[in-house]
Amino acid sequence: MGSSDPVRGVVVERVAPLGTAMARVTLRVVDGPVPEAVRTHAGHCRLLFPDDATDGGAGGSARSRVFTYRRWHADGRFDIDFALHGGTGPAARWIARATVGDRLGWKHGGPPKLTLDAPLPGPAVLIGDATALPVISALLERAHPRLHGHAILALPDIAGVLPLTAPTGVMVAHVPSGDAALDVLQGLALTCETTVFAALEADAMRGVRRFALDRLGVPRGRVFTSGYWKAGLATEDLAVAKRRADWFGDPEDRSSRMPA
Ligand SMILES: Cc1cc2nc3c(=O)[nH]c(=O)nc-3n(C[C@H](O)[C@H](O)[C@H](O)COP(=O)(O)OP(=O)(O)OC[C@H]3O[C@@H](n4cnc5c(N)ncnc54)[C@H](O)[C@@H]3O)c2cc1C
Repeated sequence: MGSSDPVRGVVVERVAPLGTAMARVTLRVVDGPVPEAVRTHAGHCRLLFPDDATDGGAGGSARSRVFTYRRWHADGRFDIDFALHGGTGPAARWIARATVGDRLGWKHGGPPKLTLDAPLPGPAVLIGDATALPVISALLERAHPRLHGHAILALPDIAGVLPLTAPTGVMVAHVPSGDAALDVLQGLALTCETTVFAALEADAMRGVRRFALDRLGVPRGRVFTSGYWKAGLATEDLAVAKRRADWFGDPEDRSSRMPA
């Protein structure tokens, strides 16, 4: 997250359901133009939501949550697709009643960990739940036409979710959970030439990471994994957990923490 990027204001121009499980919000930056460098395709940002759990929204305190730029419009507006997870965090509470004219804080983050616009040495496998559908959709719609591989989407409710635009060599599978996504991955005929991208609940992400590194032997440089959320942990606590050396559970990280 670019710490030098300022916090600016955004206003909601449109809220549109994407089926029953997601909603698309179009935001316009209110205080001046958006530099081209900020308009990173499939990049991420922080949105600052009112902390109405503690102050009813009256005290002006805000809590930031990370989201993906699903699409930049030519005029500098951008779309964010929210997974409607129904929790009690500030983002979940806000999207449940978001309306045109709402204002939020916005802080640009940075580009995605991976881009797919250049040819890869082998297939790509992209795994994500509803929170990663925006980044996977954005990556695939600009992917190199010869990209081949699999997108495995853990979406319990896909009704109304827009179809992915992807190169013809990418097979798309919908499964109900992160565990089921790992099952599909384990059944694919893949080699260490594969590039793996996984963004989903943290424990599910670790299962994918372990399989890619330990069983497929994919080099770490081609395994892009992120715990986009963790069951039972609010974003602030997740950020603390991610700073621990053994967050990914990689053997070298574990051994570096063992007493000599
Ligand atoms: C780089 C990045 C990009 C992201 N992009 C998007 C995006 O485009 N769209 C999007 O919807 N999310 C995205 N996320 C995930 C989003 O930041 C988290 O889901 C975040 O926790 C939501 O904040 P909250 O205030 O609702 O919940 P928090 O206050 O963070 O957590 C409160 C509770 O809700 C639970 N929770 C959080 N998310 C979920 C979930 N998806 N399902 C079930 N329970 C959940 C937590 O476990 C916790 O118990 C992204 C995350 C990262 C790191």
